[in-house]
Amino acid sequence: MSRTPLMPVEEALNQLLAMANEQGLADSEVLALDDACGRVLASDLVATLDLPPWPNSAMDGYALNLADLHRQPLKVSQKVYAGLAPDALLPGTCARIFTGAPLPLGANCVEMQENTEVLEDGSVRFLQPLKVGQNIRAQGQENRVGDILLRAGKRLGPFELAVVAGQGLAQLHVVRRPRVALLSTGDELVDPGQPLRPGSIYNSNRVLLKHWLGELGCEVIDAGILPDRPAQTRLKLEQLQVSADLILATGGVSAGDADCLGQVLRDNGKPLLWKLAIKPGKPLTVGHFGAVPVIGLPGNPTSALVTFGLLARPYLLRIQGVEDVMPLSFSVNAGFDWPKPGSRREYLRVRLEAGRAALYPNQSSGVLLGATWADGLVEVPENSTHSVGDPLRFIPFSELF
Ligand code: AMP
Ligand code: MG
Repeated sequence: MSRTPLMPVEEALNQLLAMANEQGLADSEVLALDDACGRVLASDLVATLDLPPWPNSAMDGYALNLADLHRQPLKVSQKVYAGLAPDALLPGTCARIFTGAPLPLGANCVEMQENTEVLEDGSVRFLQPLKVGQNIRAQGQENRVGDILLRAGKRLGPFELAVVAGQGLAQLHVVRRPRVALLSTGDELVDPGQPLRPGSIYNSNRVLLKHWLGELGCEVIDAGILPDRPAQTRLKLEQLQVSADLILATGGVSAGDADCLGQVLRDNGKPLLWKLAIKPGKPLTVGHFGAVPVIGLPGNPTSALVTFGLLARPYLLRIQGVEDVMPLSFSVNAGFDWPKPGSRREYLRVRLEAGRAALYPNQSSGVLLGATWADGLVEVPENSTHSVGDPLRFIPFSELF
């Protein structure tokens, strides 16, 4: 057994991002607004409208010109509902106005109805001191024509789509979906719904990664289960390289195992078997088959989960042009003691309880249930010990989608 030093997570990430920068998906497509959620904007969104497009009322109340206040009570000369185009304000009067309604020309203030008194003849008395501009949303207070609202490379979620909609656009340019061929390797694997053979286990990784890939804007080519046979693996990769932007496999990456994927990549170019300084998820195969990048994740579902979240996810976002690919993380206090330093950085499944990170009792990489119990991963640096209350970096699972 060779004793090559383990690769730090940062270095693996840097190499994967360098690969992704080189690969970048240049082509974009035009999508309907409704179909663009989860995709990445291909060009800057430049405002073609001031928002709001005209000054409008932030309250239900009365619009007036403060110069008329000394003549109060003021007669109501018009009613302005949202969606109406008002007349100019008659001097010496006020206008009944509702939230979102355009401000009549000549008005310079809105008073909310709670601070007024309506007299028997319908005229209005203003009870509080008033200021110019009060309760008015100025034209362009959110943005002006020509402002860059969203940059190319921005992931589009509901908030971003609402901004696009606010500009009146029904379509937008997005980066095309990366096509990811998903392979589960292992002689022991059986898909759910099939009878379990002696010695076999059900395939958890396929469904885990298929839906996670979907969340990241990828189109999944479901390539099924592959036995641990180099010839079959090679044949499969030959088929998949035609259509895939990435071949993502799980299992069969640990050396000494039926290390099929690594073997095939070795025969076909420059394979890299990375031994990462990370737990769970030490072995990772990265390379190319022909021109197509291949990432081989470890087979244990929790190892696959951690390495996909920390390494494959940023890679897949970066090939779509996303600049900021790192999950938000923050410091939490350990709710456990960590007396034995490890040589690898550990990512533990934890739940936040009373502000502290509580450990799922079984942190084995073969145990997937911890991920459904936990809120996220806490990072325990290599060669370190910790006590209850020590600060540790926490990555919420929600940040990995
Ligand atoms: P490997 O990376 O192939 O050495 O697999 C490591 C462990 O993960 C073994 O116990 C495998 O049976 C298990 N495993 C591999 N692939 C899957 C999968 N798709 N679903 C569930 N367990 C798996
Ligand atoms: Mg295997």
